Amino acid sequence: MISSPSSKTQSTEQKQFLTILSREEAMARFEEALGSWQVSTQRRSLADALGMVLAEDVAAPVDVPPFDRSNVDGFAVRAADLTTASELHPARLMLNQETIACGTVPQVAVVPGTATPIATGGPLPRGADAVVMIEHSQPAENGAVEMFRPASPGQFISSAGSDMARGEVVLRAGSIIGAREIGMLAACGTAHVTVACKLRVAVVSTGDELVQPGEPLRPAGIYDANGAIISAAVIENGGEASFLGAFADDEEKLEAAMRDALASHDVLIMSGGTSKGAGDISYRIIERLGSPGIIAHGVALKPGKPLCLAVCDGKPVIILPGFPTSAMFTFHDMIVPVLRRLARLPPRVDIQTSAQLPFRIASELGRTEYVMVSLVQGRDGLTAYASGKGSGAITAFTQADGFIRIDALADHLPAGENVQVTLFTPQVRVPDLVVIGSHCTGLDLVVSKIVQKGISVRSLAVGSLGGLAAARRGECDLAPIHLLDAQTGVYNRPFLAEGMELVPGWRRMQGIIFRSGDMRFEGRSAAEAMKAVLADPECMMVNRNQGAGTRILIDQLLGHARPDGYWNQPRSHTAVAAAVEQRRADWGVTIAPMARAAGLGFIPLTEEHYDFVVVAESREREPVHAFLEALSSSSMQDALEQAGFSRAG
Ligand code: AMP
Ligand code: MG
Repeated sequence: MISSPSSKTQSTEQKQFLTILSREEAMARFEEALGSWQVSTQRRSLADALGMVLAEDVAAPVDVPPFDRSNVDGFAVRAADLTTASELHPARLMLNQETIACGTVPQVAVVPGTATPIATGGPLPRGADAVVMIEHSQPAENGAVEMFRPASPGQFISSAGSDMARGEVVLRAGSIIGAREIGMLAACGTAHVTVACKLRVAVVSTGDELVQPGEPLRPAGIYDANGAIISAAVIENGGEASFLGAFADDEEKLEAAMRDALASHDVLIMSGGTSKGAGDISYRIIERLGSPGIIAHGVALKPGKPLCLAVCDGKPVIILPGFPTSAMFTFHDMIVPVLRRLARLPPRVDIQTSAQLPFRIASELGRTEYVMVSLVQGRDGLTAYASGKGSGAITAFTQADGFIRIDALADHLPAGENVQVTLFTPQVRVPDLVVIGSHCTGLDLVVSKIVQKGISVRSLAVGSLGGLAAARRGECDLAPIHLLDAQTGVYNRPFLAEGMELVPGWRRMQGIIFRSGDMRFEGRSAAEAMKAVLADPECMMVNRNQGAGTRILIDQLLGHARPDGYWNQPRSHTAVAAAVEQRRADWGVTIAPMARAAGLGFIPLTEEHYDFVVVAESREREPVHAFLEALSSSSMQDALEQAGFSRAG
């Protein structure tokens, strides 16, 4: 927390820090402060009602069908006349002097021994209790007809009101009006319905750093993801979203924007600026916008702790956390139920499935925690892989199948635990090919190629050892690994278990990266460069995380030395390249293609073998064939070489 200059603000902040509410308590107080307000209603013609929410039950004003109706082309008869009819001894009936078409009102009764020709949809005449299909009859001389089969009473007749009975509720309030609902309303003669007005939601992003998509990104700028996400999520939940833009952290301008937004909308949803930092001002403005003001600021959620809920003169004002994933979770879990109630929509139905955890998940005690997961089919059901990315990761959302909610009172979930996964989509999407293991940019090239052929691929980066474990459990088809066996000096093969086969992938050169022109590195060998690094206290490194294959190389290079930057230990090749490119570090170790893509200098160290473990059960699967074929194709080998990898073997 950055302390504020005025003591008045300091005391407000203190008050808010003392009152972190549980998810349930925050929801209950918010709902209570909102009271029973809901959007108003309006009458609309059917033509204008598509996509709206019905605000009142609709009862059928008439019976549908309005009369007993024939379902086939044939003859209206009395079933009792046909009890002995057969192919050999047809029943002979005299034809009445009328033919009933659709829209014809029958005039002549069907008396015993007679039949009246009737069309599909024609009203049944008095006396008739069944219809015989024309195919089961034959014209006879002297105005008669012969019937070959007996008929049961009611046969081929829809009786009056059998579809909808007059007074019956045919659509309930809360239904969303689609083509089928419109059809039903039209069928019972309803031309106008009472619908809920759409909830008008103003969406505002805040932050000095925000840049709108489509504009060039300035240094230290961040694209405004929340504006688009929240607007879309509001619309998905039946609301009308007006995105008013991203506002800098300027108290006066922001207050004016918030007042305008509230004047012309039912709800204001903002994002960012809700932590207790110096630039975070929106929550202070809320206190001036109307009573009762802030209801909850700080909810025991992870991610999502800084969520701020307020009600200003009856209207909900919500500040979602700035990180897009945190914003999404809090929006879906806590805001959607409220918006749907205000909009007169029924509660959202979440679809859940159960799955097993492959790894232990640690969790913070005292906060309800959401963890995004990707599902894969194992031998004994679904396995839920937690997304390895942090709370700022937006890609996790598009790659995950759903999330699990860890209770505030649990400090971890053990490996093997059965969990309930709330799905983001109506069904579990089972991918054609599952690849679990170490990630490499070369892998993306092969995956893209088979995705183009219509094969769906799930690729989870859990490291080489995680990949091997998944292969052992039968959760993946392929596990890409790069593991050096220290004893034999052989890559990958010594790690195979029974039922696994190794298919060569490619080689990737690991090396030291630096900015071109840096004379501590330019033109030198690795050993010379290390000497220069250790002699220069100003020289800053970027390391890798413990457990990464690359880290082993770095440790070999450094021996016992711990130069400045050693404790900066990102988890990916990309982060290392970015650190050197952006001058936060002067050197690091990564693979050659990464250095090339970032335009950095490169001193080669050693060539790693990146290969694929193929699980025996998957060997003959079509998508596995497609992958291996794509991998060995000469065009792919060329593309990999082009990207800086070299051929295996
Ligand atoms: P704040 O709560 O404003 O301190 O923001 C927390 C983090 O979320 C910062 O890294 C912000 O850059 C980021 N952030 C805030 N608003 C947005 C947004 N609209 N889109 C993407 N990231 C955002
Ligand atoms: Mg901010």
